[in-house]
Formats: sequence, structure tokens, C-alpha cells
Amino acid sequence: MFVRGELEKIERKVLNGKRLSREDGEFLFNCNELTWLGSLADYVRKKICGDLVYYNVNCHVNLTNICRARCKFCAFGRGAEDKGSYAMTIDDAIKLVEEANRDPHLSGLHIVSGLHPTWSFENYLAFVEVLHEKFPRLHIKGFTGVEIQHFANISGLSVEKILIRLKEAGLEAIAGGGAEILTDRVRNLLCPKKCSADQWLNVARTAHKLGIKTNASMLYGHIETFAERVEHLIRLRELQDETGGFQTFICFPFLPKNTALEKEIKQTSMWDDLRTMAISRLMLDNFQNIKAYWVMLTVPVAQVALSFGANDIDGTIHRENILHDAGATSPRSLAEDEIIRIIREAGRTPAAVDCNFNIRRIIT
Ligand code: SF4
Repeated sequence: MFVRGELEKIERKVLNGKRLSREDGEFLFNCNELTWLGSLADYVRKKICGDLVYYNVNCHVNLTNICRARCKFCAFGRGAEDKGSYAMTIDDAIKLVEEANRDPHLSGLHIVSGLHPTWSFENYLAFVEVLHEKFPRLHIKGFTGVEIQHFANISGLSVEKILIRLKEAGLEAIAGGGAEILTDRVRNLLCPKKCSADQWLNVARTAHKLGIKTNASMLYGHIETFAERVEHLIRLRELQDETGGFQTFICFPFLPKNTALEKEIKQTSMWDDLRTMAISRLMLDNFQNIKAYWVMLTVPVAQVALSFGANDIDGTIHRENILHDAGATSPRSLAEDEIIRIIREAGRTPAAVDCNFNIRRIIT
């Protein structure tokens, strides 16, 4: 009876457009009414953003996997001497983008990389300058809050100055990774060498003030508690109230294969993935877009997630590396036709967007 009463109270709040509290969020993570949760999230999705599902025709560019941080959950970063380590030259990056750019619908680049121990900020900046100059038609979204803070640390420049220089070089938006779980307990245990929760939020806040939109994410399913997932969502919601600069929120289920946590932690279930997607839509009442990232969720789960609050399915990607190092079983890229088919089969309308969610084509 108590549970039914709680569900009804939460449902009333959602239907009346009232904000869910921390306690509501924690309750939802502990309740197993998955289909109810999905329909509530789907109701909110429809009310906020209608039936369009956004995707982009994009190309991921991972400049290097050599990284000084060596986060325990990461299978991508490695030492310079480790097997499989690489660092692209500018010519390598141009070649990759030239290949992807044979697709006339390619609209953007997504550039994220390791924190290379000897590269300067100027090294990273040069990639943006050259790619923007050579491919002016392509929108560049790049670097996470972690990378931006790293650039500030190694250059001695402020985060604001770093962002201004990147913007001048052609960067149009900031990627959403690196948020992991925005509590110091989790970060100290899993990724003590990278920026703190406050620093990550500060990068986003600073970017928003400069008119640069950013994305946000949550890496869940490792050592965090449900209360910490809710804390994470509330911290993002508070910043979104303040700036309105987040464009989309991405749920990243942790993939343990080939990470330092492989033996301790099992991969999340589809149940948890769908529940987390729906709760994110309900808690993040000031976010327009919630992304079902098919690379981590798998294509079938991402498609179902479109009925659990998601309205964004990421993009074609061209060649994904980071998560395939962690054993992602999804393809490395998806053809645009396939994305369109997946969205249509879910009863929705595909809309191709650029990295700032400007609609380029609605596929009717
Ligand atoms: S998650 Fe990012 S910062 Fe951490 S080890 Fe991997 S590449 Fe480096």
C-alpha cells in the first residue's frame, strides 16, 4: 500500500508538472515498476519535445589513447609504451575526416581523447584549427570537461581563456563525457587524477557563460550508490537552472571488459539501463534532450529506450574506438539508413541535427 501511495504521489507530481525531489528520485531507483516508469517518462518526453528523434551524421576523432589519468573504469587510455597506444598526427586526423567526409550528409566531428602526458594545449588546439580550416562545412564538438580542465592545468591559462581560444579555432560545442558520477567519493576511488566534480561543473558553467553549449553524461553501474546517481542528476539540474546551457544528457552504462574493475563488477542489465533512462528524463525536467547512446546500450536497447524518455539516438559515428576497447558489442558505426529505420520502427520521426541541435533535415 505504501509503495502504491508513493507511486501515485510521484505520478501526480509529474502529471502536474511539479519537480521531483531527491527522495522521489531515490524511491524510483528502488522501485521495480519498470513499465509504469517508462510510460511516465514517455509522457514527459512527448510533452517536452514531441515525436522527433534527433540523430547526427558524425565522425568520432580520438586523437590519442595515451593518457596520464588511467581511470579504473576506462579500457581506452593507456601508457605510451603499452600495446595498442597511438597518437595521431594532424595528417592522420585529416585522412580520417576525408574518408568520413565522402558521405555528403556528414555534418560534424566529435573529438575526444586521452590526456597525453607530453602534449601541450597548443597540440590539441592545432587539430581544431586545421580541421576547421580544411572542413569548414563540418561542425566541431570536442573535448570533455576533463580535457578542458587538463588544458588549463598544463598551460597555466584559465578555463575561460582555454574555451575562448578553442572557440576562436572553430570549436562549437563541448562533449558531455568525463562527468562520470559527480561526487568526490566516487571520483577519488575511480579517477583521482582527473578533475573534481566541482571543476567539471565549473567548465560547463564557464562555457555556458561564453555561449558555448555543452552536453552532460552519467557513467553508472560501477561503485556508485543509487543516492549518488540522484545526487549527480540533481547537480546537473541545478546548473541547468542557472545557465540553461546543457543540450542533451547521455546515460552511459559502465562496460567492465578490459578495465581494472572487470573482475569485480558485472555489466548493467537492460532493466537497469531502461530504469536509469526513464528516471533521468523525470529528474532532469529542465533538459530538452535525453540521449540513448546506442554504442553502449546496444542498438536494440537504445531503440526501446526511445519509449523510456529518450528523444536523441546520437549518430552514425563512422568508427567508434573508446567503448569497443571495453568490449562494446554494438557495431563501430551505423549507416544513416539504419538509424532512420530504427527510429521509424519505434513510431517516431527521424530528424538529422548538427552538434547544436539545429535541425538539418526531417525525414518524413
Ligand atoms: S576516461 Fe578519459 S581521462 Fe580517464 S583514462 Fe580514459 S581517456 Fe584517460
